Amino acid sequence: MALSHVHNLLFVKHKRAPLDCIFFPMIEVVPSRIAAARATNACPTVSLTPQTVRAAFTKDSDLFTEMGVRYLDGLLDMEDEPLFRRQMFDMWEGVLGLSWEENERAIAAGRETLAEYDRTVRAAAREALDALERDNRLGILLLGRPYHHDPGLNHGIPEELQKLGYPVFSQSTLPIDDDLLERLFGEEVRAGVISHPLDISDVWKHSTAASSNLKIWAAKFAARHPNLVAVELSNFKCGHDAPIYATIEEIIDRSSTPYFGFKDIDENKPVGAIKLRLETIDYSLKRARESLLQRGRQTERVEKWLAGYEQRLRRQLGAELDADDSSSQGITL
Ligand code: SF4
Repeated sequence: MALSHVHNLLFVKHKRAPLDCIFFPMIEVVPSRIAAARATNACPTVSLTPQTVRAAFTKDSDLFTEMGVRYLDGLLDMEDEPLFRRQMFDMWEGVLGLSWEENERAIAAGRETLAEYDRTVRAAAREALDALERDNRLGILLLGRPYHHDPGLNHGIPEELQKLGYPVFSQSTLPIDDDLLERLFGEEVRAGVISHPLDISDVWKHSTAASSNLKIWAAKFAARHPNLVAVELSNFKCGHDAPIYATIEEIIDRSSTPYFGFKDIDENKPVGAIKLRLETIDYSLKRARESLLQRGRQTERVEKWLAGYEQRLRRQLGAELDADDSSSQGITL
């Protein structure tokens, strides 16, 4: 996919509006919110993809130089701030003639923009999740790697699910508001099972790969949220997914959350088969929603009964207190 995107930039976009640079860094360590993770490394194959792309476009002749486009594929560690600043400066100084102060300001502005994007998308996800809860509907939580957002790779599965009326949530931008995390994980934190709502050490000890860590945490989130259904996507006989398949399935199996997996979706599965799977998922989810509504009705009945019972108790208590009052008024000390 990366090759075709860079090919498109050089041979389509560059012709329409000339490019100066293609910035495709090798991101070795990615920022992560997962608590107590051992490391947050990107998959080494993904990290090195920019180099693979460079090799492909410079094999016979250097197409970047021939087309007047600089290709920036330096290494970045986004978790080590001082190192990150230095790496960015080394990469951009020669291109833009940057001073160190300008580099600092640019990085601060970039970080703020990224944080603002994160806040906006998570707020939208929270709104969508609240609407599901309010209307007793189901949504899909996509358990996949960042590249599964690429329509060239996901076979349009998220879009099709959305067309069927299920909002699709990404594991990278789930809402993490305190009240929501308290509702889903608070009890386990207080019981000492986990140290933080975003801790996965109870289910996964080898937490060194950022995307796998996030996928496992998202599976825990789906398992605890009654309006979410987990759909897992996996490609290329993924070496990072293979060891966590069983863990993910076990996390979900322990709840009543429906789970559907599309494994090895790159292996030329005919479109018809995927469509059929989606129809089956739709059917199962309609049944799951019926049970959700049924549970909602039962909860409503129990809540109504409890409210009536509380009122009766209060009335009874009030009457007893009144009786106590009147008898104590008759006592002379
Ligand atoms: S399929 Fe898995 S192992 Fe291969 S590049 Fe993607 S994340 Fe890495």
